[in-house]
Amino acid sequence: MSESEPESGQERQCVSCGINIRGMSAATFACPDCGTEISRCARCRKQSNLYECPDCGFRGP
Ligand SMILES: [Zn+2]
Ligand SMILES: [Zn+2]
Repeated sequence: MSESEPESGQERQCVSCGINIRGMSAATFACPDCGTEISRCARCRKQSNLYECPDCGFRGP
């Protein structure tokens, strides 16, 4: 038996405010520039906060 977690390194954080959004109703989409998966929490989505891609630095609404 292995004790390793099934989702290793799959931490999901809101790119705008940085909170852990695991289990939250967050929006996940791909960066239009590089395709990296970006997640944003419902609160930031409501406030239309800007997001910044952690990979390429692309910024969008
Ligand atoms: Zn957020
Ligand atoms: Zn990107």
